[in-house]
Amino acid sequence: MSEVLNVEELFGSKVFTLGKMKERLPRSVYKEVKCVMDKGGELPLATADVVAKAMKDWAVENGATHYTHWFQPLTGITAEKHDAFVTHPDDEGHMLMEFSGKELIKGEPDASSFPSGGLRATFEARGYTAWDMTSPAFLKEDATGVILCIPTAFCSYKGEALDKKTPLLRSMEAISAQALRIVRLFGNKEATKVAASVGAEQEYFLVDREKYLQRTDLIFAGRTLFGAAAPKGQELEDHYFGTIRERVGAYMKDLNIELWKLGVTARTQHNEVAPAQHELAPIYESANIAVDHNQLVMETMKKVAGRHGLACLLHEKPFAGVNGSGKHNNWSLGTDNGVNMLDPGDTPNENIQFLLVLACILKAVDTHAELLRQSASDVGNDHRLGANEAPPAIISVFLGEQLEDVVKQLVETGEAARCLDGGKLQTGVSTLPDLDKDATDRNRTSPFAFTGNKFEFRMVGSSDSIASPNTALNAIVAEAFCEAADELEKAEDFDIAVHDLIKKYMTEHQRIIFNGDGYSEEWVHEAERRGLPNIKSMIEAAGTLTTDKTVKLFEKFGIFTKVELESREEIIYETYAKTINIEALTMVAMAGRQYIPAVIKYSKSLADSVIALKSAGAEAHVQAELLNAVSAKLAASKDALTRLEKAVAEAGTIHNAKEQAFFYKDTVRAVMDELRAPIDELEMIVDKEMWPVPSYADLTFEV
Ligand code: ADP
Ligand code: MG
Repeated sequence: MSEVLNVEELFGSKVFTLGKMKERLPRSVYKEVKCVMDKGGELPLATADVVAKAMKDWAVENGATHYTHWFQPLTGITAEKHDAFVTHPDDEGHMLMEFSGKELIKGEPDASSFPSGGLRATFEARGYTAWDMTSPAFLKEDATGVILCIPTAFCSYKGEALDKKTPLLRSMEAISAQALRIVRLFGNKEATKVAASVGAEQEYFLVDREKYLQRTDLIFAGRTLFGAAAPKGQELEDHYFGTIRERVGAYMKDLNIELWKLGVTARTQHNEVAPAQHELAPIYESANIAVDHNQLVMETMKKVAGRHGLACLLHEKPFAGVNGSGKHNNWSLGTDNGVNMLDPGDTPNENIQFLLVLACILKAVDTHAELLRQSASDVGNDHRLGANEAPPAIISVFLGEQLEDVVKQLVETGEAARCLDGGKLQTGVSTLPDLDKDATDRNRTSPFAFTGNKFEFRMVGSSDSIASPNTALNAIVAEAFCEAADELEKAEDFDIAVHDLIKKYMTEHQRIIFNGDGYSEEWVHEAERRGLPNIKSMIEAAGTLTTDKTVKLFEKFGIFTKVELESREEIIYETYAKTINIEALTMVAMAGRQYIPAVIKYSKSLADSVIALKSAGAEAHVQAELLNAVSAKLAASKDALTRLEKAVAEAGTIHNAKEQAFFYKDTVRAVMDELRAPIDELEMIVDKEMWPVPSYADLTFEV
């Protein structure tokens, strides 16, 4: 019998939850904290001191020695600098562990080594971290010991955002304010806040750690840069939802336990489409916490893998020829009095509100399709989007048959009197229909699909932070809500006005709706006819950040300034160039020091055998033919290697970040492909015993 897990007790045991605050803080202090959490504002220093002491006592009781302001710089991952609770000893040499309110609220890490895209001049190296009270503090335990992690936002001296969290928090305020205006129009007077809720399904690969360590490309680039396809891939579709192997099962169990302790509601786990690919999905929560938790999920996945002799690959495309990994970002809006604004609801009135919300979202997504596409781009995702497996690079919205039909009727006749499933409509007070929840429709090829009471944004890459996509979603929908509310608040006859507005938005933006096969070639042409953007790469999408339309959107709600956006665009070019540079150098090293020497050894053994056979008077034409084939591919490899070295050197001479990034994309990457091709062919003919690294089959079928 296995040990019985007390999940209820385990859950959140490493989190300084609201419950723990309530237990440990004086009533008045707790109330003050709760008030700032709910309504915003700042904690007075005296109050912060009390909170800090309680937090430190709890942390120390649980073994903590250090604290850190945990933040999310523009590297896409998290950063931390540890400080011990240690203070100056007294005369007798006694030391008391201390932690002040000031230390809790504000930190001053040196910002000069984080990407800032020119925002922070080198002489102004200071950056500030400020406690994000809406996300709870937690304990991280590893070889370093136990560390109290305080989620924070990271800004420059002048208050410019240097991280992914600050704009997200700003966008959550914007969507809350504008969504409230919408629910007010429909008579909801109780709600005081609307929260964007997010549930991020996380895909990942697991490979054997020993084998992983033999592949420099996995270590440095997170993906294989060479590798012939395994004889078996995903064609039999036997891995998806398949029985979970023992070793992977033990990993998943351990991962769940670690996540539960951190208050992450890991809920669903299954094998994914590609061999060695899996998925974990948590229960949704407020966008801000979901972003933090997704970072913890990724970190914990990697950490726990090590304990099981495994390596967790979060790259969007670790293996060519089989599916890559993404993150389905499920997004919805909930009022604090329990209404999901994306739920069609049970009464006609709720239906009308839902149809208005839907119309606004269609408008938002159509108006800002480029921005949404941009928000889901990272270097690895360039291998997925538009590459016949992940959602295409073209943004479109999937509504399902029933809803699409309702939109069609509204657009054509201004009324939607019937419902596709034949059910009787409760049209009630207006010409708008009563809708069923349509949770069953599934279209896996759509990048932005309505799934019952939420939208599922499926473009996001598996290794990327989900902060940017959610910041973009919140912002574009806030803008559409704002414009709708501006109209409707001054309308004389609300019923007519809302009806007309829904019809208008749906008519103007129906081109964004697409229920067909998003992977098909026809869709690419159809989308072009409709005038929908098809942005193929991360760096082609980057310019969207600084178009007038985007700047106006973000400045309107105080989410980004123009300067902040310019700096982010710059960082994208830099990140792209650096990443491809690392990949290219890794290829140069692997080809020059592993593959080419191995092939030379193999051709020597062939040549020896030709000579031996001939001198023995035997036929050697098989060996001779093989030798010729190997030599030809070896020559092609060496030639491509030389060209790659030259291309990388040339890239280094380009000083404009954007130009350099495009050079890496258009020139360096092409040569990388040219080097990969002959080496992958060689892998299929060279003696496996002599091949210097584990193959795709070794990596993906022997976990
Ligand atoms: P799928 O069929 O896509 O696997 P699931 O029902 O498993 O769908 O849900 C996927 C994710 O959607 C989960 O993380 C879940 O918590 C999340 N989700 C469900 N409802 C909402 C909501 N209202 N807002 C945001 N995310 C949600
Ligand atoms: Mg899903």
